Amino acid sequence: MPELPEVETIRRDLVARLKGRSVRESDAHWSDKFTPAKMIDGYRFETLNRRGKFLIAPVHADGPGTAADSSRLEMVVHLGMTGRLQLHSTASRLDLDHPHLRAWWLLDDDQTLTFHDTRRFGRIRVVEPGKYESMPTLHHLGPEPFDPDLDGRTFHRLLARSRRHLKTSLLSQRPIAGVGNIYADEALWLAEINPKVRRLGVERSTRLLSAIQEVLGAGIDNRGTTLRDYRTADGDIGSNQFTLTTYGRAGQPCLRCNYLLDSVVLDGRTTTWCASCQAR
Ligand SMILES: [Zn+2]
Repeated sequence: MPELPEVETIRRDLVARLKGRSVRESDAHWSDKFTPAKMIDGYRFETLNRRGKFLIAPVHADGPGTAADSSRLEMVVHLGMTGRLQLHSTASRLDLDHPHLRAWWLLDDDQTLTFHDTRRFGRIRVVEPGKYESMPTLHHLGPEPFDPDLDGRTFHRLLARSRRHLKTSLLSQRPIAGVGNIYADEALWLAEINPKVRRLGVERSTRLLSAIQEVLGAGIDNRGTTLRDYRTADGDIGSNQFTLTTYGRAGQPCLRCNYLLDSVVLDGRTTTWCASCQAR
């Protein structure tokens, strides 16, 4: 599933190309997961933002009265497991009958934005700006990992709200936004913290926050982790999969202590860690 680095890579690639463009025509798969895509027909993209793993596009209606609040909306896109948001130039041949195409938007400069989703865990919503109550994960989303106001003490307080296993708490998106299975395993290994602990002191919370920032930053620098489905907005793969220390390496030696990495299913999610240097 695309996590913060993958979604941020897509955002950075798209933002300048979408900004100021308006939607001339659009269509969507019949499922109500995707039909809201058509609600921004005739609207103009103001920019493209990201919160956690969500892409958020503020749009406004063209024509007179564009400053009125009622003419402003936000399209929220969650890529789910296999969602791909891509922008195609005028010249590229586009298959609008592709079986996994869930939505498309033809822009006023003849580019086409497409949303493909094989497994259909993705979702498109159009809401009034900031009205996220219908999307509980987004509504209750924790702070951005790179928020300058987020320090170890604050992160410790957010983590202390949950008594679940630490990794499960991270995946809930509540203590911090954007961390999924891959980057959680990577960050917990880097911080030398056991994924199963239920309480974390201030010092270790601070270390975990730094580790999260480090693995997410590297993921962005490497344009994301492509294991199967993730592609950038131009259809390319990322390269962070070549630098993973922990995720997907069960049974292989720990890069720090050489002990063989362990793997268990923790609260339904495969979790890889080093039982030696992440003992506690
Ligand atoms: Zn180790």
